[in-house]
Amino acid sequence: MNKTIYTVSGGCVLCGTCQSVCPADAVELGTDGARIAPARCIGCGKCMDNCPVEVIEPELQSPNEPSHDG
Ligand code: SF4
Ligand code: SF4
Repeated sequence: MNKTIYTVSGGCVLCGTCQSVCPADAVELGTDGARIAPARCIGCGKCMDNCPVEVIEPELQSPNEPSHDG
């Protein structure tokens, strides 16, 4: 199963908004930016909608990369 998760690219100003709006407690604030734990993110998009500098982007997550070798 694939699901959309959200990731933070460079430019996070550590305002903490994404963490406060996240219903799944998936956001951690590090020293160089917010990080979203893929296992916890439910893909609601609230963080992206509320980020003042728009550095959060949706990303399709594949749990396992299939091998192409026979
Ligand atoms: S998409 Fe929703 S669940 Fe995922 S980190 Fe953002 S606010 Fe949290
Ligand atoms: S809302 Fe945006 S700028 Fe604020 S902590 Fe989250 S990712 Fe960083």
